[in-house]
Parts: sequence; C-alpha cells; structure tokens
Amino acid sequence: LTGRDFKPDKTVIDIDGVKIGGKKPVIMAGPCAVESEEQILETARIVKEAGAEILRGGAFKPRTSPYSFQGLGEEGLKLLAKAREETGLKIVTELMDIQHLDVVEEYTDIFQIGARNMQNYPLLSAVGKASKPVMLKRGMSATIKEWLLAAEYIMSEGNKEVILCERGIRTFGERTRNTLDLSSIPLVQQISHLPVIVDPSHGTGKWDLVIPMARAGIAAGADGLIIEVHPNPGEALSDGQQSLKPENFKMLMEEIDLISRAI
Ligand code: PEP
Ligand code: MN
Repeated sequence: LTGRDFKPDKTVIDIDGVKIGGKKPVIMAGPCAVESEEQILETARIVKEAGAEILRGGAFKPRTSPYSFQGLGEEGLKLLAKAREETGLKIVTELMDIQHLDVVEEYTDIFQIGARNMQNYPLLSAVGKASKPVMLKRGMSATIKEWLLAAEYIMSEGNKEVILCERGIRTFGERTRNTLDLSSIPLVQQISHLPVIVDPSHGTGKWDLVIPMARAGIAAGADGLIIEVHPNPGEALSDGQQSLKPENFKMLMEEIDLISRAI
C-alpha cells in the first residue's frame, strides 16, 4: 500500500487546507515538550508569524531517563488546543501508548508515532483504525524497508494518511545525537507515494547544525520539516541544546522559502 507500483501518484494529505505532500514544503515547529501555557502560546505565536503551519509539542514524552520531565499529559493537550484556537495552527503531538489514543485523538490534528515506537505493532494498528493522519518517525536503527513496513501496518488497517519522518539513525558517529540520513528522502520518494518530512533537530541534536541540515533537507526535496523552537532554549525542560531561538527560526524560514522556490 505504501508503494508507487500500487499508487503511482503522490499522496497529498490535506488538513483543512494545509497540504502535506503538495508543491510547497510544510513547516511544523514548536517546543520539544509543552511546558506551560505561557511557553506554548508564546512559541505558537512566534512560529506562526515566521510562517509555520503546524505546531509541534509533546504532552506525553518518551524520555530516555525515567527521572526526566515526562510531559504534562492531558493538560499539555489542552494547552496545544488553546494555542490552535488562538493562532489557527494545526497540531502534531506524540501518542506513546494505546491507552491514550482517545484523548490524543480528541485534541490533535496529526498523531506522531515516535522513533522508539516505530515497531510497536499494536500501536501502529490502533492508529491505523483512527481517523486522523499519522506522522511515523523512522526508528533509531530502522532500515528503509522496516520503516515502510511499519507504515504498511497503519495503512492496512484503513488509514491511508501517513507522513514519513526521517529523524536520523544510530551510527558510529558520536559527535551528533544521530546521523541524519538525507538520502532517505529522495530514495523513499522514489519507492513510495507518501510524503516525507525531515527532523533536523533530533537528527543532529545541536541547534547550530539544525539550520544547515534543514536547508539541506529542503534542497533534497523533503515535503516539509519538523523543527524544535523554544522562546528560551537555555531553560527548556527537554532538548534545549537542539532548539532554535525565535530569531534563528525566523531567519531559517526565510532561507527555506528561497530554497524551495529555487528547486
Ligand atoms: C520528538 O519529536 O519529540 C521525539 C521524541 O522524537 P523521536 O521519536 O524522533 O526521538
Ligand atoms: Mn525533542
């Protein structure tokens, strides 16, 4: 179901006029985690003004350490919905566990399935039965084939609105958080009709590498980007070191606009 041989024309996912997989790349931006009403509303205004169309923000966070901030849960979802109401941005947020499917579906516009859950088959089947688009992140060490088969789990349950997200894979490189596999973008677009977006934030782990890799992702033909932005990265409760400051995000958005017009 994911293959071009099955469906030759590219899939365009239309969320109330925001088209993912269309001519123009779609930018999703926001904090790693929803931390407070003030933080998410301020970030939403900033990214909206800079030209983003979708607000990201984790309410249920998959943290490596159980002692790290785990997210605000349903309270975080409500704050995202409030930010949507105020700005008109759409929302993408992670679903970690089937038990939260209904509550996440109530608030979000797009389900995010994280890298750690790319092969959580019951979770994939569950969002496959849901009625909202799914952004499926590539697993930490997933091959392209495994990634597409994970998408197949969702689509075979009936949900045809899947967005693939390249977020870097584990390699022997130790100077970056992950190794962003930019070649997967044109490769997956050859094999599959599904839109592919890039996450240079988790792909590099360093804000000053996020900017060149975001430019490169668009130049490689990505259908969009998902970027972590925080009003004050030094005080972020998660992933501050890879979050862009508002002014840097604004500059990057101008560059992205130029690059996407040029290709
Ligand atoms: C995220 O985008 O919030 C996240 C946790 O990313 P990943 O699943 O790619 O690690
Ligand atoms: Mn993060």
